[in-house]
Amino acid sequence: MNDKTNLASIITIGDELLIGQTIDTNSAWMAQKLNAIGIWVHRRVAVGDGWDDIWTSLNEESAHSSIILITGGLGPTADDITKPLLCSYFGGSMITDPGALANVKHIFEIVLKRPMLDRNLRQADVPDVCTVIQNSRGTAPGMWFEKNGVIFVSMPGVPHEMKGMMEKDVLPSLQSRFQLPPVHHRTLLTAGIGESFLAERIKDFESALPENIKLAYLPNYGMVRLRLTGRGNDPDLDGEVDRQFQQLKDQVADVLVIDSDRTMQDVVGGLLREKKWTLATAESCTGGYLAHLLTSIPGSSDYYLGGVVSYANSVKTGMLGVASELISTHGAVSRETVEQMAIGVMRKLGADLAISTSGIMGPGGGSTEKPVGTVWIAVAYHDKVASQHFSFRFNRERNIELTAQNGLNMLRKMILSA
Ligand code: AMP
Ligand code: MG
Repeated sequence: MNDKTNLASIITIGDELLIGQTIDTNSAWMAQKLNAIGIWVHRRVAVGDGWDDIWTSLNEESAHSSIILITGGLGPTADDITKPLLCSYFGGSMITDPGALANVKHIFEIVLKRPMLDRNLRQADVPDVCTVIQNSRGTAPGMWFEKNGVIFVSMPGVPHEMKGMMEKDVLPSLQSRFQLPPVHHRTLLTAGIGESFLAERIKDFESALPENIKLAYLPNYGMVRLRLTGRGNDPDLDGEVDRQFQQLKDQVADVLVIDSDRTMQDVVGGLLREKKWTLATAESCTGGYLAHLLTSIPGSSDYYLGGVVSYANSVKTGMLGVASELISTHGAVSRETVEQMAIGVMRKLGADLAISTSGIMGPGGGSTEKPVGTVWIAVAYHDKVASQHFSFRFNRERNIELTAQNGLNMLRKMILSA
């Protein structure tokens, strides 16, 4: 058998994962967190709510890994069988955990103010052979088992509850239990250059990287994140990664957005705060999505004033003062219209800056002249206006995301050049 120290497997349980009704976001999140502390995930397995399938996966994964993280199957309904199965697998018997019971009662009596069913109370039952991990965000406790040197941790499937347990208990416990090799990550964000062009540009850099430092490309909606990860016991690991990172930054300087792992809305927000400028939005085709992204950043009220979802032409003319002749001559999806929208909302809300979007997101509504994916975006700063035409394709959801991300990047450039 291979050395399985510091190797982890993730088992996600639930029929809903196998039929594609629920997307398994848990294992991606857990893998990232484990990776960041130096635990390598070498297998991820999804199984249905079947006794034999779960049992077999426990046997198989524990043959390869010393850490098995399990989510799902802990609900109060009959299809959730993880708990009795683990009790039987580890040869225990069920007992009521006083801490978990107090938590369930607290949630029903104080938080939900609802009567409790017996099946709710039974959520506090756990096998007597586990260490209980309290759930501060829900009723089902987590369970930590050990057998033949392998750690098994069972957590609820609800992502928010699992994340709470991982951050508060599981990751710190794993870190203190294992001698984990140091890991050092550095991430930067680029925009406006495709993944393959980027790869071509930095191929010499990549092939000259030392053995213990790896480069990862993480492309997403017009942006590419580049991450350097150094591992191992080199005493100057951080220094070496930082030096390589500096070289990487120099090579992508013209397309660099930020030299840390941040979103575009966070970067834009940071710049606005620095400049003490305010922002307004006028959204047609993004329907408020830009406003949502901007306000998903804590403290965005410091710079974001608000916006108008000017979906109908009557709102573009009525609320934002776009001339109707302009719309009838050039169309709602045009340079002229988006520029007037941006200027209109900037004046109306008294902001320093504004951004506007108008486009044909599909699947219908396209023409030969303006096919689906035709988008105009304008950004304005006082008396300066810049607008750009984009030809996206694909589907509606993707077009909306691409419009928002490219718009934020235009805004970033406007702030930097204003
Ligand atoms: P369970 O612990 O099986 O009762 O799961 C509760 C809920 O969590 C399910 O209905 C799913 O919506 C969600 N869930 C379960 N497993 C996952 C997973 N791997 N990724 C994301 N959500 C999940
Ligand atoms: Mg389930």
